[in-house]
Amino acid sequence: MKHLHSGKVRDLYELPGGELLIVARDSISAYDYVLETPIPDKGKVLTQLSLWWFEQLADVVPNHVVSTGLPEGAPAEWAGRAVVVKRLDMVPVECVARGYLTGGGLKEYRRSGEVCGVALPEGLVDGSRLPEPIFTPTTKAAVGGHDEPMTFAEVEGAVGAELAKQLREITLEVYRRGAELARERGVIVADTKIELGLRDGGLVLGDEVLTPDSSRFWPADDWEPGRSQKSFDKQFVRDWLVSPESGWDPASGAEPPALPEHIVAQTRAKYIEAYERLTGRSWA
Ligand code: ATP
Ligand code: MG
Repeated sequence: MKHLHSGKVRDLYELPGGELLIVARDSISAYDYVLETPIPDKGKVLTQLSLWWFEQLADVVPNHVVSTGLPEGAPAEWAGRAVVVKRLDMVPVECVARGYLTGGGLKEYRRSGEVCGVALPEGLVDGSRLPEPIFTPTTKAAVGGHDEPMTFAEVEGAVGAELAKQLREITLEVYRRGAELARERGVIVADTKIELGLRDGGLVLGDEVLTPDSSRFWPADDWEPGRSQKSFDKQFVRDWLVSPESGWDPASGAEPPALPEHIVAQTRAKYIEAYERLTGRSWA
């Protein structure tokens, strides 16, 4: 296997037949840092959740999955978090859909009343539900860089009008389908990011889909616009990092400290709860 790329949480290898192997690690990021403490099983949970979603979305968009068996030569400890996939020619746009306003979108809205060139009604606050889901693409920054918002016209300029239209349609349909299913299970999908690539001229869904790393999941029974929402996964990590107990200041520029055991355990349990609630399956 030839190592091709290591992203924030996944490693990519090329297999002898030309297919790729994507391996998810247990790393977790917060406040734009990849933390030094792994969350046990996170790579497996997110891989299995993505695989489940790929199936649910199969009639919306084809996906890159070839097989989930470990290829020859792969270490046994990758089982459950490695997937053999078709190699795609990734479109250089991060395809984001938002159904609720928060984070970077909220910042842009406060400045201009728009997000990625889409005008929104007045009076929206942190956590507001949007009148309808919107496509808010960004650039795909290299590791260490920051993704910048793109207008639809900019996407058209980058990939052509026809492909841009398809990206928007698929992204919004993935969001709608995912949000509807999650809502039935008590989870709000505030926003999500997908990565699409070309294969034989058609768009194929790659990377991961509708995981807590690529989406904002909020417990529906706790949703209250006008404040920041409880996130389904990293809340314990974020809260602890900025608590006096950690002694860390996000503005200091220093690396965050190692996580204590109880925070690791609670966070692991949250990821598993997200998997179980969404899929209706038991993790065990
Ligand atoms: P982030 O996902 O947080 O923006 P990243 O893209 O650097 O960061 P990873 O998700 O760890 O981090 O890396 C996976 C990489 O593999 C991405 O660059 C993604 O575009 C690429 N990729 C995913 N699926 C495929 C595929 N089927 N063919 C080719 N490249 C793929
Ligand atoms: Mg990625």
